[in-house]
Amino acid sequence: MIVIRRPGLPPIVRHDDAIVAEIARLYREGTMMQKEIALRLGISRTAVSNILLRAGLTKAAVRRERAARRPPETVAPVRGGCRWVYGDPRWPGWHYCGKPLVRDRNRGSWCEEHARKVWKP
Ligand SMILES: [Zn+2]
Repeated sequence: MIVIRRPGLPPIVRHDDAIVAEIARLYREGTMMQKEIALRLGISRTAVSNILLRAGLTKAAVRRERAARRPPETVAPVRGGCRWVYGDPRWPGWHYCGKPLVRDRNRGSWCEEHARKVWKP
């Protein structure tokens, strides 16, 4: 970080590209708040906020980026199988339950176990 002090004026602060990239990376990960990123990098919360703003990394922008990276749905439901979803369909590794459906057609596309969860008496 380079601070240019100007007598009688607020200092101009320039951040090197490495810091800017690291802040963007941490913020995109989505596990740290701006305050925590600031603490980790030893800079002020305001600096983090300004850098993110200048990089165009608002909350909405990060959400849009994530949505764009979302893999297309590639898992087909098992024909005649339970459609209870294990995992998060936005990420790889999720799957349908797939067990045989309950006999009662009115209770929908679930196996015994999941029909009980969905249709609590
Ligand atoms: Zn099931």
